[in-house]
Amino acid sequence: MIPTLIQQLYMSPEASDSAPFSKEEFDRQVMTTYGRFDLALVKGSGCQVWDDQGKEYLDFVAGIATCTLGHAHPAMVMAATQQMQQLTHVSNLYYIPVQGALAKWLVAHSCADRVFFCNSGAEANEGAIKLARKYGHTKLGISDPVIITAAASFHGRTMATVTATGQPKYQKHFSPLVPGFHYVPYNDLEALKTALAELSGKVAAIMLEPLQGEGGVNPGQKEYFQQVRQLCDQHQILLILDEVQTGMARTGKYWGYENLGIEPDVFTSAKGLGGGVPIGALLCKESCNVFQPGDHASTFGGNPFACAVALSVCQTVESENLLANAAIQGDRLRTGLQALVAKYPEHLLEVRGWGLIDGLELQAGSSIAAGDVVKAAMAQGLLLVPAGPKVVRFVPPLIVTAEEIDRALLLVDTALTRLTHS
Ligand SMILES: *Cc1c(COP(=O)(O)O)cnc(C)c1O
Repeated sequence: MIPTLIQQLYMSPEASDSAPFSKEEFDRQVMTTYGRFDLALVKGSGCQVWDDQGKEYLDFVAGIATCTLGHAHPAMVMAATQQMQQLTHVSNLYYIPVQGALAKWLVAHSCADRVFFCNSGAEANEGAIKLARKYGHTKLGISDPVIITAAASFHGRTMATVTATGQPKYQKHFSPLVPGFHYVPYNDLEALKTALAELSGKVAAIMLEPLQGEGGVNPGQKEYFQQVRQLCDQHQILLILDEVQTGMARTGKYWGYENLGIEPDVFTSAKGLGGGVPIGALLCKESCNVFQPGDHASTFGGNPFACAVALSVCQTVESENLLANAAIQGDRLRTGLQALVAKYPEHLLEVRGWGLIDGLELQAGSSIAAGDVVKAAMAQGLLLVPAGPKVVRFVPPLIVTAEEIDRALLLVDTALTRLTHS
């Protein structure tokens, strides 16, 4: 039998005549938007992945908080296979039963009443921005509504979401940016009150991450968010939470906002929702459900394939009790990382996080950067990802075991020993 192109790509070098995969060719043909590591991953199972040389890695990146059930989970494989054999894609011109089933699950497991499906985090946030603007125009009578976002936030790479993102490094060379955004420092109530006073009558929404992921794993403060909720109610403006990284059980609760004791009017999900299959969702309460036919759309959004896989992820999170596992293993991870902070006080500052989204911050004065730790850990067989220059992020699959947490801690320890003794 002639191997398919995909099979050829994954053949061992001995089994094929010519090298099937060339990093040089890849770098010549794929746009250089990413600073890639010299590593090609070709296979995964559970919390393990393998490179094209057969070397095994413990995966504490999980596609950046995306592979909720790890790699090749049987529930996802079955859902994907069955749905693709049944029906892969149809237009939203028609009812899609499995989209309805996923919406029903999300509404039953959150504070939302309504869902719009799209394909990524940026798209979900783009939808939230449009919803907030229409709400501003039609319910609040604002002609040019403003959305307040936070410094050090991350909301995506489309023009509106990169503008919403409060980090100039992502906006450089992309001006003119989208009008209608205003930034305040995160977790700073006085600054928010000042902004609301200055922009009186123009603000339609405040958009925040419950815990800032890309910005350095900064958890939101409960008192701050409770005050933000009150201010939104008082000014009749929407509270939008970007749950793209914190949602879908990652923090040990279904949604990050449950750690803050509040409910948003609007929130977004993506990353962990499909367990690795591209899907995003915009969710809102009935009171701000202002979209009408024609207002917003997506060709692929909520298609049968993506929804069937996402539903299998949701159901498995429930049936395998992964909320509890995320909380328990997250505690174990943070306790182990605290011990490393005590062991390397010159280089490590502190550990922060909720459930299985955790950050290890390096001392400002340390010669070691987050990228150095990530590279040293990779050499030991552990995949980690930075969150800014001084924070190492730990976002393993929610199926991670105590044994895997302990193994990862040992590998980080070894990596730090090597780094600090060289
Ligand atoms: C990753 C991320 C996004 C962007 O998601 P994409 O799927 O890459 O568009 C938006 N917001 C937050 C908080 C994220 O972590």
